[in-house]
Amino acid sequence: MITALLIVSVAALAVALYKQAAHRRALRLLEQAIAQQQPFLREDLPGARGREWDELCTAANGLIAEATRLRQLGAGQLAQLEATLGSLQEAVLIVDENNCIQLANRALQAIFPHEKIALHQRLELLLHSREFLACVEAVRAGQARPAQAIEFVEGAESVWLEVTGTLIPPLGGQKGAWALFVLHDITRQRKLEAVRKDFVANVSHELRTPLSMIKGYVETLVDSHRTMAVEDRERFLQTVQRHADRLHALVEDLLALSRLESANPGLQCEPTELGRLLGALVEDYRGRPTAAGHRLEFAAAPELPALALDPRKFTQAVENLLDNALKYTPAGTRIAVAVARRGGEIEVSVRDDGPGIPAEDLPRLFERFYRVDKGRSRDKGGTGLGLSIVKHIVQLHGGRVRVESAPGQGSGFFLTLPLQS
Ligand code: ADP
Repeated sequence: MITALLIVSVAALAVALYKQAAHRRALRLLEQAIAQQQPFLREDLPGARGREWDELCTAANGLIAEATRLRQLGAGQLAQLEATLGSLQEAVLIVDENNCIQLANRALQAIFPHEKIALHQRLELLLHSREFLACVEAVRAGQARPAQAIEFVEGAESVWLEVTGTLIPPLGGQKGAWALFVLHDITRQRKLEAVRKDFVANVSHELRTPLSMIKGYVETLVDSHRTMAVEDRERFLQTVQRHADRLHALVEDLLALSRLESANPGLQCEPTELGRLLGALVEDYRGRPTAAGHRLEFAAAPELPALALDPRKFTQAVENLLDNALKYTPAGTRIAVAVARRGGEIEVSVRDDGPGIPAEDLPRLFERFYRVDKGRSRDKGGTGLGLSIVKHIVQLHGGRVRVESAPGQGSGFFLTLPLQS
């Protein structure tokens, strides 16, 4: 009897232990399914039997489905956010608490074409600006200045960006706050501002010299014209006249430039045969006293089509080149004007066998007020604006300018116009 009781209780214990082990295994499987967020059937959990297990499986599956929905929603919203930030004109950068990049949109990459901006890289290795790193720290400390202009080194150039930063409060699981920056490229404005300041400084300088000369000579004349020798008086008056002419030329060139740069430069285009126009111009120059010592040549390719251009403005451009060739080459030099067809374009060239121009001056030659030899240019009545005017006129006609020159080998200026202009 006792033995039978013992057997029954051992069997009951074994069953209980077996059930416990089966529950444990089922619980482990349930745990795995929840961790992997994998929906499951109760049959997938051997040993999970009974109403409680049914309820537990239904609740767990419900939780997994809800977590999956939230995850997909989150991923969708993040993708939406990334797409929105990515398509913004403004550059956007998000860094985590360790200054590792978490988001950098296309506009940012476009500002730094030499850098490969990749996610999770450290900021310091990519954007070379101590000022920006200080700005990041200031944002973290809540002391950022709004729209701070910061200079970055990009290759051999400087890029100016207006930076506005803000903190993104930490989400669950994040240790520290992230920081978001909107960067607005103001390099162009900065450069334009520098050009404007330069221009104003140059104009003031160019005007001041002849004006102060005129003022000085006129003052002397007013004070002592009665007692002055006639020759001195004449000499003084001629100096005043020379500087007044220089002022006049400068103001005329400035007005011409500002008209050409204005929204309405007043081009009056008409069908023009360049061969005829420039042939007549060279003929006219041959009769001028300034060209008496030079050898002027002209050549035009036959059967050139007429171009729609402003003949007065275009003549002015070629006159500037001819005047330069006469001014900067010694008497006896050959100056050749030619019109030729080059593929789908027409090329007007003015070449001389003069002293030529050093290579380092060539890239800046068409800039306003750029002169190779300042003293010589002024002595010859130059304003430093002639080639800049040439460039503007040609560009207004849809063309481009080019210079080829080397010391001792003469200079060639080329104006290229599209045939359909
Ligand atoms: P500028 O009024 O001084 O002549 P430009 O803009 O016409 O101003 O020319 C700029 C500079 O280019 C001149 O000062 C001169 O030094 C140089 N230059 C232009 N044409 C020639 C040329 N044919 N030969 C040598 N130097 C030239």
